[in-house]
Amino acid sequence: MDRMTSEPLLSALRIALGPTGVLTEAVDLARFENGWRYGKGKALGVVRPANAVETATALRLCADHGARVMPQGANTGLVGASNPDASGAMVVLSLERMNKTIDLDLGNRTVLVDGGVLLSQLNEALKPHALFFPVDLGADPQIGGMVATNTGGTRLLKYGDVRRNLLGAEVVFGDGTVLCDLNRLRKNNTGLDAKQLFVGTTGLFGIVTRAVLQVAPLPRQRAVALVGCRDGEAVLRLLAALEQDLGDVLSAFEVMSRNALGPVFSHQPALRNPFGAALPAYAVLVELASTLPATAFAIGDVLEGTLGSHLEVDGDAVTDVFVAGGEEFWNIRHHISESLRHEGRTLAFDISVARSQLPAFTTTVERLLAQSHAFVRLCDYGHWGDGGTHLNLVWRDADAPRPYAAIVEELQPRIYDLAVRDFGGSYSAEHGVGPHNQRFFDRYTPAPVKQLGALLRQHCDPRHLLGTTRLW
Ligand SMILES: Cc1cc2nc3c(=O)[nH]c(=O)nc-3n(C[C@H](O)[C@H](O)[C@H](O)COP(=O)(O)OP(=O)(O)OC[C@H]3O[C@@H](n4cnc5c(N)ncnc54)[C@H](O)[C@@H]3O)c2cc1C
Repeated sequence: MDRMTSEPLLSALRIALGPTGVLTEAVDLARFENGWRYGKGKALGVVRPANAVETATALRLCADHGARVMPQGANTGLVGASNPDASGAMVVLSLERMNKTIDLDLGNRTVLVDGGVLLSQLNEALKPHALFFPVDLGADPQIGGMVATNTGGTRLLKYGDVRRNLLGAEVVFGDGTVLCDLNRLRKNNTGLDAKQLFVGTTGLFGIVTRAVLQVAPLPRQRAVALVGCRDGEAVLRLLAALEQDLGDVLSAFEVMSRNALGPVFSHQPALRNPFGAALPAYAVLVELASTLPATAFAIGDVLEGTLGSHLEVDGDAVTDVFVAGGEEFWNIRHHISESLRHEGRTLAFDISVARSQLPAFTTTVERLLAQSHAFVRLCDYGHWGDGGTHLNLVWRDADAPRPYAAIVEELQPRIYDLAVRDFGGSYSAEHGVGPHNQRFFDRYTPAPVKQLGALLRQHCDPRHLLGTTRLW
């Protein structure tokens, strides 16, 4: 479909959605065409429906004119699944105008939100009520996009992912059918929980236009520590001790290896390095959060006291302990990815294995690299509390015997095979699936799961209108 043949579709969309509902100028389309990290495409146009009924109308019109559709939220996804392909024939369906409803039921501690509401916007609205939506990350996605990708984040350990906090959803199927299941019940044991089909399935079954979320009381106080550990086993012992002694208030357990930490202090001079020249093998960011007031529970003292006791029993393996308020230590964690890019080429993996396997898995990757790719540095960090590790492989072109693409081809299948086949892990712990990792979905997904997905797709989106990812 080109501009000429698409004109009847674009005029039908303008009539149905009004002039603000359709964008076609190149200057307006640009921001919808490229992904955050992967994915570059070309859009025929962008439709911006205001509600589920307009979404259904837009999808039917696109189907009638043979145009495929890319649902798009805030476009912060990291697997290239939110952008149109390069054909110039796809319509982007953006939820950015669906951002008005934030309807709080205080007594029920739930909120009904439009799918296009941004996470930051939701949290601003909840703040006066001392509440927040606790799925927390370094980006600002839309709620519909978070449902479609089942966003995890740095506080998953305490609050869970989107799946655990989603009570209801309104979804428009690819064929225009509207499923309105705006359940507000925490207990509802009445058979198929249909909304779960749309969590983490990247919009391939339908478009999430509204959601009911359970929200959490905003902590009155937090305390953060950075703990240096000699090796991965010491990190696991620290995690076990903290869960045992402080499990109710432990809200984050983020791990940064020496190779991930070093570049932060080299490239972010504004950030203080508490360790000095001798960086530990692993630095753990420990966060406690509590709704109790400081007068009832001295959270900083409790954290210091517990870490002090741990030092007494595992002093050889714990090298340093620093406690600080505010965002200082979180800023170190949030600057890793950007700092690594200054070091050379990066190849990023978003892997999870059972927590108990993290040290063995990491050591195996190190050994593999030492044997066949000694010019590559493993710079790993991640959400060890949930078994998640962002393995970043870093090298300089000058040191590499082959071009970047060839090295990626060698390393990706080996690392993923190791994670999935040898360690029973996941090739995408939290970023979801999309064109970037499509072939690994094909490689590892069991046939019965693919068959079930195909049946659901056939039902919800029989013309395969939605998305570019070919999962089902
Ligand atoms: C700096 C940074 C840090 C990040 N950290 C984390 C992290 O810690 N944990 C984590 O899990 N993720 C993380 N992410 C990934 C990303 O933010 C999430 O995947 C995000 O939730 C996607 O939401 P979005 O609105 O941006 O969706 P988009 O990127 O626009 O879309 C993502 C997918 O969802 C589909 N989609 C979007 N909206 C809808 C809808 N309303 N209905 C149906 N389908 C839809 C799209 O078609 C696409 O397939 C991070 C990203 C960045 C850039």
